[in-house]
Amino acid sequence: MENVEKMTAVMASFVGYSGKILPDDVTAKLKELASKENAPLAKTIYETMFKNQELAKELNRPSCQDTGAIQFFVKCGAKFPLIGELEQILRESVLRATKEAPLRHNSVETFDEYNTGKNVGKDVPSIFWEIVPGSDKCEIDTYMAGGGCTLPGKAGVLMPGMGYEGVVKFVMDIMTSYGLNACPPLVVGVGVATSIDVASLLSKKALFRPLGKHNPNERAAKTEKLLEDGINKIGLGPQGMGGASSVLGVHIENSARHPSVIAVAVNTGCWSHRRANIVWNGDLSFTVTSHKDYKYE
Ligand code: SF4
Repeated sequence: MENVEKMTAVMASFVGYSGKILPDDVTAKLKELASKENAPLAKTIYETMFKNQELAKELNRPSCQDTGAIQFFVKCGAKFPLIGELEQILRESVLRATKEAPLRHNSVETFDEYNTGKNVGKDVPSIFWEIVPGSDKCEIDTYMAGGGCTLPGKAGVLMPGMGYEGVVKFVMDIMTSYGLNACPPLVVGVGVATSIDVASLLSKKALFRPLGKHNPNERAAKTEKLLEDGINKIGLGPQGMGGASSVLGVHIENSARHPSVIAVAVNTGCWSHRRANIVWNGDLSFTVTSHKDYKYE
């Protein structure tokens, strides 16, 4: 079917592109943080990162060699014409991007311990669905979940009485123990919810929020700021080699919860934060919001 082929081809190109070119807001934030560094080593590391990005563009190579396990977060209108074919389209787009981009082979079948060599496997790419009633649009966030930046991920349910101080301690404990492994400066996604399943999903969704935007709840936004200041004070700096800034941003997403518990989860994104956003219309025209220079060729 012509439309299926069109969407598959664009998504394959878009996934490959997003592995090579960082989102506009991430590039801008890295430049801002670099300009605030005085330590010679931190400055050199930022210069190396920017040189690395230029070469990725020039040589058509990935931004980081670890192109991650691919994840899609889909907000699909119930009237989007390819809703029934979408899972097949996204899976096929990963197969094609793996060859065409190319992407590193990052899908190992759990328990059987072999690499499929295709970046697809059982339930990989991960596809998370939200259905939007009445709409014919389809918004897709793509994410390359690298090994290092996935490593600090953790979720738990805090004891009654631990409160929001417990949430902050939970996040800070992870940052002081594993933050280093995730190639800072980091995007820190925090989910605060009623159970670990909801908190975990929210902490990943928090990584897709554009940098510089805050939780609409004033207290949550204040907690984001306090955490950002606290994590910066650890002094991780770029690549964990020391410096003024440790984070690109701290984003909290929350749901209501059972009165006696607070579930909290953390997901981290690294400096090579390869997330991208594309919005499809019902007539299969599309808009890319994360990368202004993306063109389908
Ligand atoms: S944490 Fe990010 S930058 Fe570091 S190796 Fe993994 S994907 Fe690459």
